[in-house]
Amino acid sequence: MNYRDTLKVNKNGHLEIGGADVVDLAREYSTPLYVLDEAYVRAVCKAYLKNLSLYGAGTIAYASKALSCKAIYKIMKEEGMSIDVVSMGELATALSVGFPAEKIYFHGNNKLISELEYAINKNVGTIVADNLEELEIIDTIAKKENVTQNVLLRINPGVEAHTHNFVQTAKIDSKFGFYIMNGDAERAVKTALSYKNIRLLGLHTHIGSQIFEKEAFTLAVEKMTDFIKVLKDNLSYKTEVLNMGGGFGVWYTDEDPKFTVDEYALYVKNIVDSLNSAVSRKNLDKPFLVLEPGRSIVCEAGITLYSVGMIKDISGIKKYVCIDGGMGDNPRYALYQAKYSAILANKANEPAVETVTLAGKCCESGDMIATVDLAKAERGDIVAVFSTGAYNYSMASNYNRNPIPAVIMVKDGKSAYCVKPQTIEDILRNDAIPDWLE
Ligand code: PLP
Repeated sequence: MNYRDTLKVNKNGHLEIGGADVVDLAREYSTPLYVLDEAYVRAVCKAYLKNLSLYGAGTIAYASKALSCKAIYKIMKEEGMSIDVVSMGELATALSVGFPAEKIYFHGNNKLISELEYAINKNVGTIVADNLEELEIIDTIAKKENVTQNVLLRINPGVEAHTHNFVQTAKIDSKFGFYIMNGDAERAVKTALSYKNIRLLGLHTHIGSQIFEKEAFTLAVEKMTDFIKVLKDNLSYKTEVLNMGGGFGVWYTDEDPKFTVDEYALYVKNIVDSLNSAVSRKNLDKPFLVLEPGRSIVCEAGITLYSVGMIKDISGIKKYVCIDGGMGDNPRYALYQAKYSAILANKANEPAVETVTLAGKCCESGDMIATVDLAKAERGDIVAVFSTGAYNYSMASNYNRNPIPAVIMVKDGKSAYCVKPQTIEDILRNDAIPDWLE
């Protein structure tokens, strides 16, 4: 486990997060339950901002697809962060708690016209445009609203990175962005500059997710600054803003490096150092630097609690420990065999004695959370799965009409809802029966 001050085993031999005993949390709020450690989220934000300040002008935009709810936007606002959003839903949630519109970056490869109208009407700071059609639509809406809209262009620099390895690709068929090598990106810059109601601030890229190799980001910085130089030389265009996206890798299991908050911040420092070096070598003005981490801000802040139900031992083959949640609250194993670590939170000091597969309750054989080493599990034990703060609640579904669990926040031993639990009534609320069936 990657324990810390706010995530440890307490004197009762129970897991404690944010000063709260998780066995008490499970009793008070019932399971399944997402739990978020506020202090950890704030600590990562502070460490990232501190390392960014070594560069000068820039901002950290929390990629809120990782976890989107009112409380998280409130924290981001208080920490002086920017945010990125990818839908009207995320945008409306952020605005509902007074998140400053000018600090919002709006992404997406197929933003709906209604979403673009909403964003421009709400004075969203920057739209990251993904294709030529979108540029035309933004210009038309901005003209109607009588505004000039700040825009970044999403660029595909031909660097693609994934967990534990990165490759430099000539990948031209990505659904995202304008490719540099075939001239599309330069043509898109020219097009964007031709629109009267668009102010092209600069460029954006995002090379992938769960990336540990700092060299991948350094390479992306090289590619992007090469392109900035081309734009300067060929079009006399000055790139004022460079957004290098997110993608910093985090700990899920002991196959991954374990980082402290300060070590996570070295991802930021590496990009800062790479960019400082590139601009001085290439004789460029320093752009305003935007970074967009999501996962690394909230992932380790979160755990999910489940209660053990049925236990099925297929003798000599496999032992399933069934929990009261599953792919509805965490679809990442079902989607791409993501790995997780877990313990029995009420037996946190007991040694692991068996390898079991945590199986969800959905009617789907791929509905698993992880295969883990656990202490002897019995009905009623509380399972805590680690590193579930990112892309769990935000990817939850009502598959099998299971309600989506609550998200609570813990701090200094206090706990409170961020998202209340869905009820069966909530699920039924939007059902309707066509009149010919009545
Ligand atoms: N920015 C963009 C454009 C993304 O698509 C993503 C994730 O897919 C992120 C930022 C955040 O990435 P991560 O959560 O891996 O930091």
